[in-house]
Amino acid sequence: MNILSVENLSRSFGGIKANDNISFDVDQGSILGIIGPNGAGKSTLFDLITGYTKADSGKVKFFEKKIFGLSPDKISNLGVGRTFQKLKPFADQTLLENVMIGAFVNEKNIKKARDKALEIIDFVDLIEKRHHFAKELSTGQRKRLEMARAMAIEPKLLLMDEVTGGVDQKTIPGLVELIKKLKKTGVTIITIEHNINIIMEISDNVLALDQGKSVAFGSPKEIQKNKQVIDSYLGTFDAA
Ligand code: ADP
Ligand code: MG
Repeated sequence: MNILSVENLSRSFGGIKANDNISFDVDQGSILGIIGPNGAGKSTLFDLITGYTKADSGKVKFFEKKIFGLSPDKISNLGVGRTFQKLKPFADQTLLENVMIGAFVNEKNIKKARDKALEIIDFVDLIEKRHHFAKELSTGQRKRLEMARAMAIEPKLLLMDEVTGGVDQKTIPGLVELIKKLKKTGVTIITIEHNINIIMEISDNVLALDQGKSVAFGSPKEIQKNKQVIDSYLGTFDAA
């Protein structure tokens, strides 16, 4: 079943076509990986889906409901969560407080929101850090905090922008395991990811963007063999 359907989405900034007529569907319960060089339009696509940026034209449907033109709050309340490429935790609040802010979206009772937040913090393996300030956490831990905060709204669809970007190598496998664990809970995931090995490992489908355009969509195997993707992005990637 289709959870998200993107049809002919376009958005320009001045003369730059950041997203140029992009269309794709996402199956419920799957992971869609998005790849593409810097400036390809990946984050803009997330901004359009989540309502942070208005599209010039095109449609976005979430469970057959048009979400195109709704505010970010409304889209989030419908069950679309997101993490940002540039992390924005509330630095002077604790991990628990940060996640509770997300939990309050669906749960007004303070104790219940706290319990929910703690459950999610445990899920992302940061329970011992719950009373630490966000600013005291390492980059890898802040990525987990971002995920926890997005999960606190109990999204059906979670968009993650470069979760493994900017963290040291040894932190990456744990984050990949966390994404896999999250998928097992039934959440549908769209993840922007520069590490091609991770994309191939976790994705059911891959969308390749280049200069605002969709250059390929298919299974990881198909994408590895796609000439346009190899030319525009993979380059020396060993497709063997
Ligand atoms: P990616 O996430 O793939 O690196 P982005 O979606 O951030 O790419 O950017 C795509 C293009 O759109 C880039 O050329 C970028 O400079 C431009 N762009 C993105 N957001 C804005 C904005 N708010 N104002 C002007 N240009 C933007
Ligand atoms: Mg980006």
